[in-house]
Amino acid sequence: MADLAFYRKYRPSKFTNLVGQPPIQKTLLNAIKSGHLSHAYLFCGPRGTGKTTTARLVAKAINCIAPDPNGESCNKCEYCTLMNQGNCVDLIEIDAASNRGIDEIRDLREKIKFSPNQTPHKVYIIDEVHMLTTPAFNALLKTLEEPPAHAYFVLATTEVHKVPETIISRCQRFDFRRIDEESIIDRLKYIATQEKIKYEDEALTWIAQSAEGGMRDAINLFEQIIEDQKLTTKHVKEILGVSSHDNAKKLFQSLEKQDLKTALAEIQGLHQEGHDLYQFSREFMTYLRRQLLDAIGKPELAKKYIYWIDLFQTATIELKDTLIAQLPLEIAILKACFIEEENKTNWFTTILKGNKEESPTQETKPIIPKKIEENGLQSLPDESNHLHQTPTSKTPPPVLSLNEIKINFQRILEQINTPSVRQSFNTGIITQIQENAIHIEFQSKFHLEKVNTTINKALIENAFEKIFNQKIRLECRQSKMENLVDQTLEIFGGEILD
Ligand SMILES: [Zn+2]
Repeated sequence: MADLAFYRKYRPSKFTNLVGQPPIQKTLLNAIKSGHLSHAYLFCGPRGTGKTTTARLVAKAINCIAPDPNGESCNKCEYCTLMNQGNCVDLIEIDAASNRGIDEIRDLREKIKFSPNQTPHKVYIIDEVHMLTTPAFNALLKTLEEPPAHAYFVLATTEVHKVPETIISRCQRFDFRRIDEESIIDRLKYIATQEKIKYEDEALTWIAQSAEGGMRDAINLFEQIIEDQKLTTKHVKEILGVSSHDNAKKLFQSLEKQDLKTALAEIQGLHQEGHDLYQFSREFMTYLRRQLLDAIGKPELAKKYIYWIDLFQTATIELKDTLIAQLPLEIAILKACFIEEENKTNWFTTILKGNKEESPTQETKPIIPKKIEENGLQSLPDESNHLHQTPTSKTPPPVLSLNEIKINFQRILEQINTPSVRQSFNTGIITQIQENAIHIEFQSKFHLEKVNTTINKALIENAFEKIFNQKIRLECRQSKMENLVDQTLEIFGGEILD
């Protein structure tokens, strides 16, 4: 998303205005005051947390001729002015993620020895530095080992584990953290006051929550949602597709009563009213989490809520790429109403595998209770949630369980640094785990082809290895979605709906 006007306009011109990173602010100001700025910094952390903004503040501080006693740049001298206007040729910003970035690094070693043109010092800001190729890293390393006195570096990355140790050890490292909601809300209030925008407090809370710690996303969203100099909760919810808290409560109550019909009708109603079911699912998880926290001290209840959270987490992930919007939630509801523990879900796994021979739709109806009885699922071993095909098979057990993957899913995604690969991978459904092979199906051919290349699979496999310390292998294929839909609808048609 391109930055809108407010983000640029309200980009802090002083360390004092930097939001949410007090320790970094303090350390850098002290270094400036004492004249001990390092020639190479490494800024790590999630997107939108102020890395590039801070890098520009450092660049300005390196050159400013009249900093104040606190270490802040004057914002008045010719060098500050040049940099604030964004047209200083000695402040070189390289985006390592772009193809041009790689060429620029090659040029860097040649050009760095020349004196700066406009300001006393040259500053290189290399964004997404982990994307550099090995030759580019080597070139950069040589430069970092013996930088000319006039050259400074600020490297920024969202994926520090991909930066070679040799580079990291040459830099002073700062870890930027996600910005807390309160700080984001305060900043939005400040901008609203400056711009004479009327706002409802709850609207700002929704924006801050949805930005997940990224100030840039929060400010851009804020600007997009303003209408006639006003920001209302109603409009924010519409744009975010947030349905009301009441709907989450209603669904929860029908699940508690195991009232399948009302629960499914609730989802159908939300869909018909045009609500975004993905947002609803996220909101429902927040609701469940609150119930879980209230249930601590009541193990049976807590266990049930953990199971439900697990179901709706899977549904939320699947909602991003489903042909039938309501289906993932309907499946989660069905499981929540009929089966109380995860180790009883084997027949569902069978459906999800699209395995005709074992398909429960070929059983005499009523399908669900009967299948559970027949399988004698109570006696299944505990490891059944590992999804290996047959508990009696002699192959070694999987190195990971589905649950471990689900719990760590967000962390795995964060390790995948190419956004398009991350997005495509996120649409997959894990159907089976065998030893170190994770089988994933994709409904969309586009996403399958994106993930199913040697390079991109390696990216994802590395992400798993990073999180679990286990080597895994991805097996990708297109899902038999039509098959699945037919089977599941048949269940619904035959058993649930009129
Ligand atoms: Zn200055």
